[in-house]
Amino acid sequence: MPAKLIDGKQIAADIHSEIQAEVEALKAKTGKVPGLATVLVGTRRDSQTYVKMKKKACKEVGIASFGRELPEDISREELLEIVRDLNANPDVHGILVQLPLPQHILEDEILGAISLEKDVDGFHPINIGRLSMKRREPLFVPCTPKGCLELLDRTGVKIEGKHAVVLGRSNIVGLPVAMLLLHRNATVTICHSYTQYLPSRVVDADILIAAVGRAEMVRGDWIKAGAVVIDVGMNSVDDPTSEKGYRLVGDVKFAEAVEVASAITPVPGGVGPMTIAMLLRNTVDSAKRLLGVS
Ligand code: NAP
Repeated sequence: MPAKLIDGKQIAADIHSEIQAEVEALKAKTGKVPGLATVLVGTRRDSQTYVKMKKKACKEVGIASFGRELPEDISREELLEIVRDLNANPDVHGILVQLPLPQHILEDEILGAISLEKDVDGFHPINIGRLSMKRREPLFVPCTPKGCLELLDRTGVKIEGKHAVVLGRSNIVGLPVAMLLLHRNATVTICHSYTQYLPSRVVDADILIAAVGRAEMVRGDWIKAGAVVIDVGMNSVDDPTSEKGYRLVGDVKFAEAVEVASAITPVPGGVGPMTIAMLLRNTVDSAKRLLGVS
């Protein structure tokens, strides 16, 4: 029987409704709404699209957007000054610097300059450090990994005691998602570009999180019957039959995996919408914390 589809679009829409209600309640109680600042440097089309989507989502749920669009050649000092201004702005509860930044700017320095209390992307080293430690809570969990766990939870997937295989160890997806699964008592295997015998590692997974950025790399015969597959990958491949000339595919060959897995996320419409939903979630949580509302 083909796998159950984990409908990230629907789950994200449910979360948007929950958040909208929370924003209205917060406004009624404090007279204030949560505010998210997006910082976009340069003119990369994909970054512009992501920022536009994030602002649109904010508007839909009643979160105020503070957009800063900056030239590609902005200096490190100017950018740091903007981050400091946003840190000090009481109407801004979350700051998101869209990555990647131009090469002349050190991303780590800019991310490290964001106030810990407004780090809604969860990329500040202290937040990542706390995420990695036992009995330490980060103020924010990075949005895509948090979205993966939310998909598992809202689909009723049991995590405790399961073997989770994470493909990829990036700071923004692989590493934090592995930490989250570990904290939920999964046994976690992390694979990366140096991992040997990759298919034989993956085939043992009860839960597979694929975040490698390699189009359809994971084949159906790598997947254990009944496994749950969360495909984070977003890769564009040429497709002359599509209007745009390309289409998005995941890191997993969906048509094969759907025949073996018990549940699977589609691409698009799986993890992608959850990343934005979790950004809204983190922004509202931050506003509540900074405004002293439980
Ligand atoms: P990344 O920074 O490029 O990291 C890729 C990871 O995959 C690295 O750890 C790398 O290993 C590993 N890897 C690469 N090729 C491999 C191979 N052949 N076998 C095993 N491991 C391999 O990518 P990322 O930022 O984590 O993103 C991963 C994917 O998720 C991309 O497709 C990206 O577009 C997508 N993504 C989606 C969302 C969303 O909202 N849906 C958000 C973020 C990212 P090494 O560490 O050894 O180099």
